[in-house]
Amino acid sequence: MQVEALYQEIILDHYKRPHGRGLREPFNTEVHHVNPTCGDEITLRVLISGFGDDMVIEDVSYESQGCSISQASASVMFDLVAGETVDDALRAQEEFLHVMHSRGEAEPDEEILGDAVAFEGVSKYPARVKCALLGWMALKDAVAQAAAAHEEELD
Ligand code: ZN
Repeated sequence: MQVEALYQEIILDHYKRPHGRGLREPFNTEVHHVNPTCGDEITLRVLISGFGDDMVIEDVSYESQGCSISQASASVMFDLVAGETVDDALRAQEEFLHVMHSRGEAEPDEEILGDAVAFEGVSKYPARVKCALLGWMALKDAVAQAAAAHEEELD
C-alpha cells in the first residue's frame, strides 16, 4: 500500500471510530475552540495531577464537530497525550505544529507522533492546516490554564 493511501486509511479510521470522545468528569479546565475558515468546533476538557516535571494529563475528553481532518486529529491526539506527562504532551504538540507548518517538507518523528504522522500530507494544503491543529491548540490552551490553576493551589 502506498504511504499516502495508508495515511488516508488512518485518518478515516480515527474519523469513523474516534478514540476518547465524549466530555467526562472530573476535569480542571474546559476550553472551546473554533476554526471559522472550515466551521470546525471542539470543546475540550483536561484533568491533570502532580506538579512540575511529574505533572500528568490524567484525562483529556472532547466533543467536536466539523470535517474529517479536524475530528480524526482530535482522536489521534487523545491517544498521544492521555496518561502522559504534560512535558511529553507538549513535546508532541510542538512536533505536530512543526510538521503542520512545514508545507510537506518536514520529516515527522514517528516515535513522538505515532498515528499523527498521517497528517503530514495535510501540511501541503494551507487551508486544511487549521483543521488538523484545532484539537492540539485547544489542548495546549486547556493544559496551560489547568497547570496555572494547579500551581496556584500550592500557594
Ligand atoms: Zn476542517
